[in-house]
Amino acid sequence: MVGVQDTTDLGKDLHRTYSKVMERSTKTHCPGCGALLEETDGPVHRYMEGSPACFMLFNQILACEYSDPALLPTHRLTVDTYAVQHSGEARTRQQIQSVGLHLARLGLQLERPTPPNETNDIMLGLGKHKLTLEYIEPPKHFEMTVADVADFAGRSQHSDKVRAWALSAWEDWSDHHEYILSWAARWF
Ligand SMILES: [Zn+2]
Repeated sequence: MVGVQDTTDLGKDLHRTYSKVMERSTKTHCPGCGALLEETDGPVHRYMEGSPACFMLFNQILACEYSDPALLPTHRLTVDTYAVQHSGEARTRQQIQSVGLHLARLGLQLERPTPPNETNDIMLGLGKHKLTLEYIEPPKHFEMTVADVADFAGRSQHSDKVRAWALSAWEDWSDHHEYILSWAARWF
């Protein structure tokens, strides 16, 4: 039987161990997607708001996609999903247009898939109307982030993981599905 004294000592030991672990690790939440990642120095995207650590994982995934033609259809989903999770406050004209276009692309790919060359035409067509996009408030929380995909980059599960991440992010934006799909439908 463990006495009161022993339990207290055990608690202290655990606390000391925990404190040491915490001293070594300085994890921070990405301001865009919320992923909790080890802090790193490094570049960030020009207008998408994310931590350097998160942007680094995104670039690792992209590098795998650039080097494998079979991942080309997945590449589009990766870019759009990352973009809709890093829109910042989506207040500037550039952010409003970015998040709107990427969300429309994401929704069309997931809800109304078309052959790749048709999809390209639709995407280019949408870009011509980006000035008509209105502000939409980003979700407060994302269920899945780039951190859930990065470990699978370049492996056999790459496409499946990106697709699950894309579906999850699209679902997180569900308040605006109707707006963005009807906006897109006006132009084709
Ligand atoms: Zn992020």
